[in-house]
Amino acid sequence: MPRRADLEIGPVVALAVAVALGWALTRGEAMDPNPYAAPSSSSRRKLYRTASEARAALGSLSRYHSWTDAFRRSRFTEGIPHDVAARMRVVAATYLDPIVADVGPIRVTSWYREGSEVSSGRPSAHATGDGVDFAPLSQSSPEYAKLAAEALLARRVPFDRLIWYEPEDGGHVHLGAIHPTYGTTEQTVRRKVPGADLYPVVERYA
Ligand SMILES: [Zn+2]
Repeated sequence: MPRRADLEIGPVVALAVAVALGWALTRGEAMDPNPYAAPSSSSRRKLYRTASEARAALGSLSRYHSWTDAFRRSRFTEGIPHDVAARMRVVAATYLDPIVADVGPIRVTSWYREGSEVSSGRPSAHATGDGVDFAPLSQSSPEYAKLAAEALLARRVPFDRLIWYEPEDGGHVHLGAIHPTYGTTEQTVRRKVPGADLYPVVERYA
């Protein structure tokens, strides 16, 4: 009797699929921060227009960061694409939360910037959700950038670069989780030279 078989096997299969999916998602976020594993074209096109849409689809952003704030600090025309939003969740949970826990509180000032490019014309880390700017609330930016790098290294979380800006350039810290073009993590702390497009290395950890 096929109907009985369906009833008996259906929930088991559904449970196995749910467990496998959960495992894959958890493992993907915790172990492999590289997002460049070709998201499906349908998921790439899907847009979240509001914080509630992102929350409904992906769950909360992270322990210390909210979709509401992330959307407020992002710049886009219609919404945040699914693959960018998924990447922001990894950055929030794997990079920002540990930094906040180990080093101190921050205020995010700029996150996703649609179509944002660096001076060479390549995508900026902000264009993929991999770049986030923040203001440290209880340390100077140079001090915070160094401590944040050390915190990530201690937790074995590879990062691309932390850049601190002088007060006349905003005084913030830029975290680039992974290079948006090459998918690499150079693990440097850099300083932005005021009035120039220069980011000399202050510390190199890799
Ligand atoms: Zn930035």
